[in-house]
Amino acid sequence: MEADTGNILIDELARKKAQLLSYGLIEVPKDILSNLSVERPKSGPSSGSNLVGFEFKGRRLKLVVSRKRERFRLQRIGNEYVILDGDEVFLKVEPLDLSTHAPGQVFISLDNRCIFNCLFCRRESIVIGEEKLLGFVRRHLEKGISSLSITSGVFPSVEGHVERIERFVKGIRKDYDDISIGVEVVVGSREDIERLRSAGVDEMKINLQLPTKRLFDAICGYMEYEKILRSLEDAVAGFGKGKVTSNIIFGVGERDEDIICSLERLADMGVVPILRMIRLDKGIKRAMERRLGYSLGKQSPERILKLALHQKRILEKRGLTTREAKTMCLACGCCDLVPFWDI
Ligand code: SF4
Ligand code: SF4
Repeated sequence: MEADTGNILIDELARKKAQLLSYGLIEVPKDILSNLSVERPKSGPSSGSNLVGFEFKGRRLKLVVSRKRERFRLQRIGNEYVILDGDEVFLKVEPLDLSTHAPGQVFISLDNRCIFNCLFCRRESIVIGEEKLLGFVRRHLEKGISSLSITSGVFPSVEGHVERIERFVKGIRKDYDDISIGVEVVVGSREDIERLRSAGVDEMKINLQLPTKRLFDAICGYMEYEKILRSLEDAVAGFGKGKVTSNIIFGVGERDEDIICSLERLADMGVVPILRMIRLDKGIKRAMERRLGYSLGKQSPERILKLALHQKRILEKRGLTTREAKTMCLACGCCDLVPFWDI
């Protein structure tokens, strides 16, 4: 088990990103907000919120816009944007274009409906037609974006969800053979993985979701935990070491050792794990606490940093990196402290 993180230098920008991720909110005056690219997610833990994104010295970050007085506030000084911490200048930032969800990629969700019910995830019943989505993607690829990421709720079944993603990938791949395509998917079998690979997928994300089976069963429970691990193994066999990623959510009462064990288990298989801090709005927090039987609190910047350093050490030891991903979260970096990018 990994333990010592003492000899890795944590730079000031990583500390600042960890503080912002931990706080999660930013106060943005109305006149400034009207000039920014604002994302309004239709599903996921930030559904119903307004999000803004920033870049600073090669790092990226998304925050939820708050209308109340907050510790962190965006201000414009001349042509520059700064985040204030109280009255002090905390960070100079450049606003990001979030019109395609992830900067530099087109990241779409094929279906916001889902037959499963993970407690941290909010689904909607808004359905956008496939033709419209294809048109949206094509327009952006024509403008020069060369990275396409696809996710989807699981609907109407696991097989139906895989089939739909496969059809969409084929529809794009026949006209664009030189772009990178990544899919975040729930698979039921090795054949599902192979179908997607044959359709033209380059990178695959299958989420283990939580660091222990007990937490997975309590919070998601849509599949056997070990089956997800077997699928990850199959995906590495199909796509290669480092081409498969998997979210591990933290901040739900797990121990550091649980996180470290799951990171090591995934990395040993050639999977690049993504450490994702839980986002808790009031409703999600209430539902999770009721199910888990204990209270959930905020994650401190110190814990975010500590876990990211463990993650980096674990990846390094196995010759894995986050720098080669072309699609999805590792290529975006807005939601996590990403080893080799941020720290
Ligand atoms: S399977 Fe995915 S989309 Fe469905 S509820 Fe769980 S996290 Fe949300
Ligand atoms: S890190 Fe992943 S989930 Fe977060 S904004 Fe980027 S692509 Fe979306």
